[in-house]
Amino acid sequence: MPNVTYLAKLGELTLKGSNLKEFENRLVNNAQLYLETVKARVLLRAGRLYIEGPESSVPAIEYTLSHLIGITGWARAIVCEKDIESMKKAVMQVAVQAKNEGAKTFKVDVRRAEKTFPMNSYEIAVACAEDVFEQNIMAVDVHKPDAFIRVEVRERCFVYCDRNKGRRGLPVGVSGKGLLLLSGGIDSPVAGYRMMRRGMKVDCVYFHAYPYTSAEAQKKVEDLAAIISAYGIDTHINIIPFTDVQMRIKEKAPENYSTLMLRMCMMKVANMVAHRIKAQCLITGESLGQVASQTMENLEVTESACELPLLRPLVGLDKEEIVNTACEIGTYETSILPYEDCCVLFSPKHPVLRASVEEATKIFESLEVQELLNEAYEKREIKRFAARDYVAEHFAPASEE
Ligand code: ATP
Ligand code: MG
Repeated sequence: MPNVTYLAKLGELTLKGSNLKEFENRLVNNAQLYLETVKARVLLRAGRLYIEGPESSVPAIEYTLSHLIGITGWARAIVCEKDIESMKKAVMQVAVQAKNEGAKTFKVDVRRAEKTFPMNSYEIAVACAEDVFEQNIMAVDVHKPDAFIRVEVRERCFVYCDRNKGRRGLPVGVSGKGLLLLSGGIDSPVAGYRMMRRGMKVDCVYFHAYPYTSAEAQKKVEDLAAIISAYGIDTHINIIPFTDVQMRIKEKAPENYSTLMLRMCMMKVANMVAHRIKAQCLITGESLGQVASQTMENLEVTESACELPLLRPLVGLDKEEIVNTACEIGTYETSILPYEDCCVLFSPKHPVLRASVEEATKIFESLEVQELLNEAYEKREIKRFAARDYVAEHFAPASEE
């Protein structure tokens, strides 16, 4: 049975000069990690990512390409012989499909790596386009076509229309590692995804206050970690019991400071985890002014408890923009499930809006909570979610060939 071939165009990484090789290798390696359990071959040639495999590997390959960060577009290609009649036939086939998917205009774009072919790129493009517009399949638009039909002439010929958008960004792993504070809300999974798109490997930490927060709340956060692992190749989630810490805060801190104290405690333990896993920064889903604990003053207080750089990729986004991304990456439906992650028992009625670092530090010290933080850290539980396992589980027939 003939293999299927997919092609993907590389994104921003083509701009990276001397780092280009490292970036390309990382991208190929990442694609291979998705497909580890599948009979498929990934290779990079002349600035294109190629994935080949048997027909049965199609779902796994398409899953990979629709989640892989670092490509701008992808398509299944028709592979044909290097003669003009075969090329014309292939272009027609791709054009009809593009039309069926809603395209009204097209342009044929030819790349000729194999310069021995007797016609030049322009002549090939004209010959291939002719039938398509003469048979009224689509009109030509050389400036802003709905469908770019690409013909690549190599040892054989690849014809495709890359209308599937890629996720862009930099390949995961080229920008170090960060530790995401992942809660069950809408924001933090989006924050993690945003950093993955900048090439960061992301692990997670989640604090729970069982039995004040439910087992379902924890399951929901694990589900969110699993969803974002589809983009981040794999992710570990560190689950940390924080009930004793929260009880101490409730007992000793002025009520209006309790949320900020909790944030400071989270930062301290997250720093310990980050050192352990060699993460270079912490990441949160905070957005300026969204809630009382996210005024500029209170963000400064939270940050004062953090040794490592604290990244807040959503800081300048409004809720609608965040929700749009959450919908696009598939976390929204899970995030809005009703299980509360911060029990109302611990939420102050009138939280302080503009705390000072000095005052907050004084209160924090009066909690004498370091020992409890150490214990919470020691009791952490770790789970791993990997895109590779998802592929193995859901596209199993491909691995049985
Ligand atoms: P989210 O939608 O991400 O829950 P939020 O708008 O509810 O955010 P807060 O509850 O104030 O905002 O939390 C701010 C940030 O603190 C979160 O985005 C997350 O990064 C972190 N955070 C909050 N609660 C937890 C938790 N239980 N475990 C881990 N991180 C948390
Ligand atoms: Mg929250």
